[in-house]
Amino acid sequence: MSRYWSDFVKQLQPYTPGEQPKISNLTKLNTNENPYGPSPDALAAMQRLLNDDLRLYPPPNADDLKDCIANYYGLESKQIFVGNGSDEVLAHVFNGLLKQDQPLLFPDISYSFYPVFCQLYDIQFSKIPLADDFSIDVRDYQRPNGGIIFPNPNAPTGRLLGLQAIEQLLQANSDSVVVVDEAYIDFGGVSAVSLIAKYNNLLVVHTMSKSRSLAGMRIGYAMGNGELIEGLERVKNSFNSYPLGHLQIAAAVASFNDQSYFEQTTAKVIDSREQLTKQLQGLNFEVLPSTANFVFARHDHRNAEQLASELRSRGIIVRHFKQDRIDQFLRITLGSEQQNQLLIEALTEILN
Ligand SMILES: *Cc1c(COP(=O)(O)O)cnc(C)c1O
Repeated sequence: MSRYWSDFVKQLQPYTPGEQPKISNLTKLNTNENPYGPSPDALAAMQRLLNDDLRLYPPPNADDLKDCIANYYGLESKQIFVGNGSDEVLAHVFNGLLKQDQPLLFPDISYSFYPVFCQLYDIQFSKIPLADDFSIDVRDYQRPNGGIIFPNPNAPTGRLLGLQAIEQLLQANSDSVVVVDEAYIDFGGVSAVSLIAKYNNLLVVHTMSKSRSLAGMRIGYAMGNGELIEGLERVKNSFNSYPLGHLQIAAAVASFNDQSYFEQTTAKVIDSREQLTKQLQGLNFEVLPSTANFVFARHDHRNAEQLASELRSRGIIVRHFKQDRIDQFLRITLGSEQQNQLLIEALTEILN
């Protein structure tokens, strides 16, 4: 606490990201990064830009990237908003679309950045409890609200909500914006993007950090009806005109253009999810059905926080949340085959 801080800053409780350790020989299964690198085409595209032209500002509207994303999803460029990671996109969404007279609704167990944005922008919210099986029941969202947001698949549970249920939610809440944060949708889920043509109140948010393995580049985007996007552009242009640099734009475009690499790497992650789930079940873990690049698992009698710290002492980091209802779960990012094997070996040792 410093006397130089504003009263506003003094009362903030910022988000705590998963650990990014400086030691490099750790098995890092704690922040849902992709074990396979970015597309080689994305790396080459960035290398080509390492020259004097970096003295120039990037194009403020990243039009090449918007055109590319629009083309990829069958949308128009004016239906695309891009930002410095989806966390920044979400920040503008909270500020520009979700700050309303009625409370914002999101699940009690979901991305823990949401309440942080609410505090930053002074947005009232209500947390809606997930069902006992950790699924979202859309009927629980039929109450006055100023917006709805949830990750799909949900984080950290990994559970997917089907398109029919999302459509119900959109119809029952036509006066509010419904934001579907699809950070993990490429690992086997069905995107709500196809519903944008039908529902003006739908905003779908994506990141290139997970399925496209570009977490270090900070690229995210939102897709929705042009009016919603224009609102976001107004916020962005009141905040930072150049959220994406030359390298980010080039890497993102090259990644979208390398469809086969994307399909190969996501298929490998999905395969390893099925394998790791069976192995964890064999060690007496309950594993929630996941459509993400992580699994959420609870041992039938061993304490989760202790398990996490025993794994840590063996050089393996997983995520544990000290939060009601989920404090006996571990969130384990799917790593490479070798990393997943190290995890299973370590757990076998710890549990015996
Ligand atoms: C990882 C994640 C994000 C943030 O992604 P960035 O683009 O890296 O900022 C947003 N929402 C959810 C649910 C995530 O898991």
